[in-house]
Amino acid sequence: MFVDLIEVRRALESEEIVPCFQPLVELRTGRLAGFEVLARWQHPELGLILPENFISLAEQNGLIGSLAHQIVRNAFMSAKMLPEPLVLAVNFSPVQLHHLSLPSQIRREADETGFPLERLIVEITESALVNNLERAQKIAAELKTMGCRLALDDFGTGYSSLRHLQALPFDELKIDRNFVQSMTNKRESRKIAAAMVGLGHSLGMITLAEGVETEEQADILLWLGCEFGQGWLYGYPLPADRIPDMVAAAPRALSTRFSAPGGGVAFSSLEALPAQHLAQLQAIYDGTPVGLCFLDKNLRHVSLNQRLADLNGFPVAAHIRRTVHEMIPELFPQIQPFLLRALQGEAIEGVEVSKPPRTPGKPDLTLLLSYQPAFDEVQEVIGVSIAILDITKRKQAEEALRESEENHRYLVELSPQILWIADANGNLTEISSRWVQLTGMSKLQTLNLGWLEALHPEDAPHTLKALREASHTGKPFHSEYRVKTADGKWTWMRSRGSPRYGPSGEIIRWYGDTEDIEERKELEEALRKSRQGK
Ligand code: C2E
Ligand code: CA
Ligand code: CA
Repeated sequence: MFVDLIEVRRALESEEIVPCFQPLVELRTGRLAGFEVLARWQHPELGLILPENFISLAEQNGLIGSLAHQIVRNAFMSAKMLPEPLVLAVNFSPVQLHHLSLPSQIRREADETGFPLERLIVEITESALVNNLERAQKIAAELKTMGCRLALDDFGTGYSSLRHLQALPFDELKIDRNFVQSMTNKRESRKIAAAMVGLGHSLGMITLAEGVETEEQADILLWLGCEFGQGWLYGYPLPADRIPDMVAAAPRALSTRFSAPGGGVAFSSLEALPAQHLAQLQAIYDGTPVGLCFLDKNLRHVSLNQRLADLNGFPVAAHIRRTVHEMIPELFPQIQPFLLRALQGEAIEGVEVSKPPRTPGKPDLTLLLSYQPAFDEVQEVIGVSIAILDITKRKQAEEALRESEENHRYLVELSPQILWIADANGNLTEISSRWVQLTGMSKLQTLNLGWLEALHPEDAPHTLKALREASHTGKPFHSEYRVKTADGKWTWMRSRGSPRYGPSGEIIRWYGDTEDIEERKELEEALRKSRQGK
């Protein structure tokens, strides 16, 4: 698009160049932190014209001052309605950084419009610093005294001399959108973005990424520790009358580090300072009942918590930089395969290993381990994090339970009586294997009411009746009947059962026994006969 100088002049006179506002967003919460002011030319015939088509023309022809005047003034007027602590970031041309009068101009606009300078961020590019560093430093110092904050714009493009980063008291580093946009497909860009965020932080600045267009980019940036973002993902630059919509649509930052120093309860002062962050993490790390450690690619301990040190029986410090093999040689063969898999990027959970006790004579420890690979910003494995739970007690309890169950089973099988369990309705669910031996029926055939098949046809009806009655009334079950044994003979048995009640008084199960009463029956018969004989 071609516009000439005369057009630009006319545009300024008729105030066709207006500010638009693009949201600046806190990456971690999606909260709105403020807006960047971007110039737009509403041309009566050509429509919307972007700054690349008129900013440099204005710069070269001494018009940038009046352009900035219009933009800043308009922006301040519109931003008066911005609720606290939302900020306004305004671009200033390198040309303007030549003029020592810039701060007083800004102050005048702010005074006349009532916009608080504590909520202004002055964005400058490195090119502003190249030929007139001293002057820029003076201007910057004055802006800072006025309460404004400074951002270094387009970082990573152009000059990128580290000297510039230190030359001015920048509060914020804006990572150029070229890095952000190639971050997802170029590992080098991602590494550079990571380094830029790290550089900004180590110099005490906050970092903002420009040109965030996708969730994926936002995720990576968040992961790299970048605090703020700006881009199509969060919103386009829109005219002033759309500010209320944008403010209403986004959750708002309570008080971010973008807000005035000392202003508001700092949510960030609780969380954002790296040292405090670390202290919080350390407390979590040490307080957990789980042994935790992080190993580098060579399986050397980088960090571990007290709990793990106790488990291994050496102080924390003794572990650092030593390999797993050096620290726990007796366990290493068991866990090595899992470590190697984790180093290939696999997350593994629930691995049970037993560890010889530290004091001889005590039982083995049973440990439950999980392995989680850690990746760097280009998805390369940089180490493994391990969590270790001591489940010895749980294991012992399980063992004891299993043993006691086994003992019971054994006792049941040894008993000369046939013990059985039935459900509330009298259907058999469990019977000792002595029944199987006696009748030759399988257990499966016996269950439910199957056992009645083994009964003498004369005895089955009254036995079933007694069973039905018992399960109705809850009175003890009692029946005597003949059972056909495996060798085809009939033998007298007696079965008795009593109910067990649940918490609300209902029968939940029947327990009982069946015993051989053949001898008694013979005795009774003999007795009866002898009485008759008398
Ligand atoms: P900048 O300061 O780097 O501004 C950010 C540019 O990125 C804006 O372009 C914005 O529309 C664009 N942008 C924002 N989000 C995205 C995104 O997700 N994807 C892509 N592809 N682009 C995105 P714009 O508005 O065309 O401004 C271009 C440049 O013009 C600005 O770059 C700034 O250097 C300059 N500029 C804009 N307004 C002013 C002003 O009022 N005064 C001065 N001196 N320069 C200005
Ligand atoms: Ca900018
Ligand atoms: Ca920029």
